[in-house]
Amino acid sequence: MALIVAKFGGTSVASPERIQKVAQRLIAKKQEGHDVVAVVSAMGKTTDELVALAASVNTSPAKREMDMLLSTGEQVSMALLAMAIQARGYQAVSYTGWQAGIATDDNYSSAKIDNIDTHRIREGLETGAIVVVAGFQGITTEGDITTLGRGGSDTTAVALACGISADVCEIYSDVDGIYSADPRVAPRARKLDVVSYDDMLELSSEGAGVLQARAVEFARKYKVVIHSRSAFSDAEGTLIKEVAPSMEQAVISGIAHDTSEMKITMRGLHDEPGIAAKVFSILASNNVSVDMIIQNVSTDGKANISFTFPGSQKENAMEAVNRAAEMLDASQILIDENIAKVSLVGTGMKSSPGVAARAFKTLAENEINILMISTSPIRISVVVDGSQVEAAVRCLHTAFGLDSDTIFEETQLSAEEIAAKMNKGR
Ligand code: ASP
Ligand code: MG
Repeated sequence: MALIVAKFGGTSVASPERIQKVAQRLIAKKQEGHDVVAVVSAMGKTTDELVALAASVNTSPAKREMDMLLSTGEQVSMALLAMAIQARGYQAVSYTGWQAGIATDDNYSSAKIDNIDTHRIREGLETGAIVVVAGFQGITTEGDITTLGRGGSDTTAVALACGISADVCEIYSDVDGIYSADPRVAPRARKLDVVSYDDMLELSSEGAGVLQARAVEFARKYKVVIHSRSAFSDAEGTLIKEVAPSMEQAVISGIAHDTSEMKITMRGLHDEPGIAAKVFSILASNNVSVDMIIQNVSTDGKANISFTFPGSQKENAMEAVNRAAEMLDASQILIDENIAKVSLVGTGMKSSPGVAARAFKTLAENEINILMISTSPIRISVVVDGSQVEAAVRCLHTAFGLDSDTIFEETQLSAEEIAAKMNKGR
C-alpha cells in the first residue's frame, strides 16, 4: 500500500465527463489499497478566462484581488471532483489551499510556500476518504488568499507530496510523459523512462511545458519522485528522480524550445564602464526578466548590446530601453519579435567534449543562422530566427542520435475517444 499524490491539470478536468474519469481513476487506486490525495487545477481554460474577466473591469487589477479571483477556479474543480467520487459511493473531502494548511508569503500572484500543516489532510485520509486539494493556492499569515504563479498546481502537488512523505507524486496531463523533444515539432521524439532532476529543471526552464520549473526545483530539493503521465491512458510515463551518472548515459537527454521570447538590440552605446549596468538596472526596475545577453564591441568605441526577454513583457521592455537609450545616447533600438530559443540539455554533456561544435556544425549544415548562444554546464542554448525553430529542433534531434524508429502521430481525441481509451484496461 502506497501513499500517492495525484495531480490533474486543467485539460484532465476540463468537463464533467473528464472529472468523472478522474474520479474513476482515483477510486481504482483506492480499491488497490492506496491512500490518495488528489490535487486539481482549474477546469480547462478557466484561469485564462478569469484573467480576461479581471481585465474587463480593471486594466491593472491589484494583485491581492487577482489572487482572490483566480483561486476560485480550483475551488470549482475540487468540489466537483469530490462530488463525483461521492456519487460513486466512495468517501471524499475537498480542501482549499488554506484548509489544506498551505502557508505562503504575501507575494501575491507568485507566492512561495513557507510551510504546510498537513494535519487536516492526514485526518481526511484516516477517515478513509480520498482527499482532494485545490492546486495553485495558499494563505498568508494574515489570512489572505495567494496564488503560486501560473502552472502552480504542480508545485502544490510536489509540496504536499513532500509534506505528507508520499511515495510518489503523480502528475497527470494530456501528454504521456517527458519526450526528448516536443513531439508535435519533432515527430521522431521518444518518450523518456527516467529524467534526472537537473536535466528536467533545465528542460522545464527552457520551454518544455510539461512541468512547472518551480515544482521540479522543489522536488529536487526534497527528493520527491515525480511520475509524469497521461490522464487518458494507463501507460507508464516518465519518472523524474535522482539519477546516478552512468557510463552509458546519453550525452543529450532532450531538446527544449521556446518561441515566447523577443530580442532587443541597442546600438551605438558608449563602450565604457557602467553602461551595461545602467541598461539592465532600468530593465530590472521595469520588472523585465532578461534571459540571454550579448555585447559586442565595435572599433569606433561604440558597443551594441542585445538581450532576450519574455514577449509578454514587451511594453515594459520597450519603455525601459527607450528611457535608457535617451539617457545613454544610443544610436538605434531594434526589436526582433520572431525569435526562438533551442536548448540541448544533458548532464552527460559534462563528460563529453565537442557537444557545442557538433550542434553548431549541424545547424550550419542546415543553413540555420545562430543569433545568440548561451551555455551552462549541462545546457547549450541558441537563438535562431522563429521561422527555423522546427528545422533546428529536428536536425539537432537527429544529429545527437535521439530519433526513435517510430513516428509520433498527434491524435486530437474527442471526449468519447478519450473515455473509450480510459475504459480500456479497467
Ligand atoms: N490554474 C492555474 C493556471 O492555469 C494553475 C495550474 O493550472 O497549475 O495557471
Ligand atoms: Mg495548467
